[in-house]
Amino acid sequence: MAGEPQDDCLFCKIVAGTIPATIVRETDTTVAFRDINPQAPTHVLVIPKAHYPDAAALAAAAPQIAADVLRETQAVADEDKLESYRVVFNKGPGAGQTVWHTHAHVLGGRGMEWPPG
Ligand code: AMP
Ligand code: ZN
Repeated sequence: MAGEPQDDCLFCKIVAGTIPATIVRETDTTVAFRDINPQAPTHVLVIPKAHYPDAAALAAAAPQIAADVLRETQAVADEDKLESYRVVFNKGPGAGQTVWHTHAHVLGGRGMEWPPG
């Protein structure tokens, strides 16, 4: 069923606590943890606790939780005292998505270029 934990999902396992992560924030609906392969001094992933494969699926099925994820990106930036930061949702392999559980990358602490690669 949509939103239910998936046995083969890495981020569902982080939510369940069966795989360790450096968790920086948690709410009733979200978890934020440091990316294992950071691309900037701050690189935190904000995920919904419920399993949806990407941001579009989350927004369509559970818009309130999508809003919770976005609100948490600002909270992460506040905790790391970032005035400027980038939020990225990769969707699909062509955009670099490798984990099929919605996640917002919060990147900051260094200068960034536009357009991204
Ligand atoms: P994406 O490529 O947008 O799907 O992002 C997946 C992200 O998850 C990558 O930046 C990975 O470095 C990160 N990642 C993979 N495994 C872990 C893990 N066990 N703990 C924290 N971050 C992870
Ligand atoms: Zn999942």
